[in-house]
Amino acid sequence: MNNQKLQFFRELVLKERENTIRIISDIDETWTKNMQDASGNLSNYTIHLADIGTDTQEREKETYILERELKHLRLLDETLKRIDSNNFGTCIYCGEKISEERLKAVPYAVSCIECQKKYEKRNNHNNHYYNHKSYNKKVKFR
Ligand SMILES: [Zn+2]
Repeated sequence: MNNQKLQFFRELVLKERENTIRIISDIDETWTKNMQDASGNLSNYTIHLADIGTDTQEREKETYILERELKHLRLLDETLKRIDSNNFGTCIYCGEKISEERLKAVPYAVSCIECQKKYEKRNNHNNHYYNHKSYNKKVKFR
């Protein structure tokens, strides 16, 4: 992939990274604020107890989003490393080029669509980027 394209994808990843960090810090802010409210004002205490059901649900939802976005952030950081080390856009399984259309939709993709399909059939979970041996072999030790 030429430098111009690499630069394009780097910017794409950086933009996505910014959004991800914004979501994470928004939740972080909400949690900090809630903690201050809960401990700071005694007159609100009963209201808080009444709200506890919704709070818990809300908190669970936020925890889910937070975990998802932290994982997303890790993938984006890995992608930046792949761009820097010239591994970007190459399938970790077959070594073929990943189509640019796919990279535009999923810039952190590490496998071509064919390999991903094959892999997903064998392993029925989606967290395979870090678990697969060839990923570590090719990315870490090349
Ligand atoms: Zn492949």
